[in-house]
Amino acid sequence: MRMIENIVVHCTATQPDATIESIKNYWKKSLGWDNPGYHYIIKRNGDIVRLFPEEKPSNGVKGHNQSAIHISYIGGIDKNGKPSDNRTDAQKHSMFNKLVALSEKYPHARILGHRDLSPDKNGDGIIEPSEWVKHCPNFDVKEWLRNYTADLHQAA
Ligand SMILES: [Zn+2]
Repeated sequence: MRMIENIVVHCTATQPDATIESIKNYWKKSLGWDNPGYHYIIKRNGDIVRLFPEEKPSNGVKGHNQSAIHISYIGGIDKNGKPSDNRTDAQKHSMFNKLVALSEKYPHARILGHRDLSPDKNGDGIIEPSEWVKHCPNFDVKEWLRNYTADLHQAA
């Protein structure tokens, strides 16, 4: 079994209507990857599709794949081609539940966004926006998890 240190959240960095087939084609034909970019992909309707077994590393973040599980929502780019957190409510709901399940399975793993694995160039221990290699997944994962849980408690 691999040692999982990071559960990494991504966006596909596509328009929301991109299909899983087109994304897989891009990895294979344009990037020449044998393995998919993520283990799980979340469709607009909230369905979670497993692309790859967790036992094997996928191609989410170069240099971090051996110890990571990658999970992505379809979307992340708006009509003007700009990065945007355009997750549907169904995607948020599925993402939250999947992250809870994964954190139970890998209790020592951190949950973070792709951009949080950018190099800490000035060495202050904080990955600042100016240091982000990518915007992916276009939201603050820790902050979102905290608030999402709080909202659930309020609604209950
Ligand atoms: Zn990413």
